[in-house]
Amino acid sequence: MTERYLITGGAGFIGGHLAESLLTAGHQVTVLDNLSTGRFENIQPLVAHPHFRFAIDSITNEVVLDRLTSECDIIVHLAAAVGVQLIVEHPVHTIETNVMGTESILRAAARYRVKVLVASTSEVYGKGSRVPFRENDDVVLGASSRSRWAYAASKMVDEFLSLAYHREYGLPVIIARLFNTVGPRQTGRYGMVIPRFVSQALRSEPLTVYGDGKQSRCFCDVADVVRALAALCQHPDAIGKVFNIGSGEETSIFNLAERVITLTGSQSRIEFIPYDQAYAPGFEDMRRRVPDTTRLRTLCGWQPEIKLDQILMRVKDSLEPSGPADFSD
Ligand code: UDP
Repeated sequence: MTERYLITGGAGFIGGHLAESLLTAGHQVTVLDNLSTGRFENIQPLVAHPHFRFAIDSITNEVVLDRLTSECDIIVHLAAAVGVQLIVEHPVHTIETNVMGTESILRAAARYRVKVLVASTSEVYGKGSRVPFRENDDVVLGASSRSRWAYAASKMVDEFLSLAYHREYGLPVIIARLFNTVGPRQTGRYGMVIPRFVSQALRSEPLTVYGDGKQSRCFCDVADVVRALAALCQHPDAIGKVFNIGSGEETSIFNLAERVITLTGSQSRIEFIPYDQAYAPGFEDMRRRVPDTTRLRTLCGWQPEIKLDQILMRVKDSLEPSGPADFSD
């Protein structure tokens, strides 16, 4: 069945891929994005598609949001302040965008009884040490004096508010907690490690490993993530629930740097940079971040299909000067 999707933040890295995939599946797609961190290049190839349209505006423009919401069946709310670097540098912008933005979306959705998928983040697990992280685990956040945690706390508020709209007003809401998501067209500008390492390797510059490099992450390809988001939007039993989306393939950041050097055949060396220097004094990182995706797998049969080495090759191809585009920072 053809449905009308509104993607907020649709010109971002994940939004652009989602828009493309939904159009391919025969849906109608509208993108709302103020291009603050989103890039027009991410949606440019879609502009000529007869079922695609876009509005360059903020989600806090209530008039525009009201009209677009009245014309859609599902909102995928991806618009958010994103990237640890940006968050540490602009905490006011982070909190205001995330909390007020989501509030605007939920209020508009409630007026027209439109389904909403709210993108949240694995950051909400904070410093939790019991991995893999399950959706109902307790969360441990750092002190409010450390601005990194503003992102997690603001996203927690988004989750609480969304679930409250569901419980109190019966609004069909789904929460997707995205773990580290990577792939073609992601930029390293906001601190994301894989496009940064691959760009550094391609330029024969040192790969900048923060801290001791023993911290670990699971990287999921954006194509797998987009498949999960689409499946959740379509599944009636996803409503009112929280879902982790991520890969189970865990790697340390040092190991990642070595793999990037090997795969690109680069002459680069690895340089360790203390967190204080990389981000801000007193910065706290997560040591391990691994999702438990049993809930999503059980409901939708979803599993990630693209392995880390393949992901790195896809990123490399998109970043090489001869590749489809140069998104190095
Ligand atoms: N990182 C790094 N070098 C970089 C960028 C990031 O060592 O140039 C580390 C970062 O400190 C974190 C991990 O790589 O431990 C993943 O960082 P990213 O910003 O991609 O995502 P996060 O997991 O922090 O949200």
